[in-house]
Amino acid sequence: MSAQEHPLGISFEFFPPNTDAGREKLLRTRDALAERKPRFFSVTYGAGGSTQARTFNTVKSVRECGIATAPHLSCIGSDKGELRDLLAEYRECGIDSLVALRGDLPSGMGGIGELRYANELVEFIRAETGDHFEIAVAAYPEAHPQAPSFEHDLQNFARKMQAGANLAITQYFFSAEAYFHFVERARALGVEAPIIPGIMPITNYTKLARFSDACGADIPRWIRKQLEAYGDDSESIQAFGEEVISKLCQRLLDGGAPGLHFYTLNQAAPALKILDNLK
Ligand code: FAD
Repeated sequence: MSAQEHPLGISFEFFPPNTDAGREKLLRTRDALAERKPRFFSVTYGAGGSTQARTFNTVKSVRECGIATAPHLSCIGSDKGELRDLLAEYRECGIDSLVALRGDLPSGMGGIGELRYANELVEFIRAETGDHFEIAVAAYPEAHPQAPSFEHDLQNFARKMQAGANLAITQYFFSAEAYFHFVERARALGVEAPIIPGIMPITNYTKLARFSDACGADIPRWIRKQLEAYGDDSESIQAFGEEVISKLCQRLLDGGAPGLHFYTLNQAAPALKILDNLK
């Protein structure tokens, strides 16, 4: 089955650009990706609401092409009044899906806020807006970096699904086994909703290594060694990355993954090449 025929299909994540050039580039990226008929786009949100206006404006311009676009919304550092106002604004302009997160506060930035974890945010959204929003939450096949154990994190994941989330999107990973193991364990805890693998195309080793350290995604030794060996040869890095991630996606779909969510970093080409390689 191709990605396009999959019941949940594909989706693409963007970040809110902060320059005119960035905004223009994002709309070109959106147009190129829209041709693959994604189920939705999503737009990230800065810690403590730091990109609130830019996230909202980006969502408004991305969704002009007619494809559902979900703002990410994090609760850390915000109070309930702020979140309530934002939900009302989203509703008013016809947004009906969200990615609900706890988020991370950069050190030294304000207090935690009134809601401590994503399960509390999901409960709050349901209490305030009923079934208006389709809610996606984050999942961590290799465990959240702050979690004391896989088991503890899995229980917390199940808790936020039970709070009323409709689907989950995973942190990126390079081991299909980690994903299948996580899904199996979540199903055993009664989670029935789709768990969509988050896919990070490999285009730049230095950035990938920094990102992966911060979010707890394991880069297997054989991938690291090969990427290190390429040094500054970005063409080889991209060719190798395309091959590795295309094979990962194929395995995920063949094994029953209900779609693919691409972390695009506002670039169309890497995700498109991977999609073209899928059977
Ligand atoms: P939670 O689910 O609340 O979990 C956070 C930690 O607390 C975990 O260790 C968990 O085990 C533990 N925990 C959860 N609930 C409880 C509980 N009730 N009691 C005790 N412990 C608990 N970050 C951004 O800033 N902006 C974004 O737009 C953004 N988008 C993302 C999209 C996806 C798909 C993913 C996977 C991550 C994204 N992130 C984003 C990163 C995310 O904000 C961080 O990983 C953050 O540290 C955790 O958010 P969460 O919603 O997973 O938190």
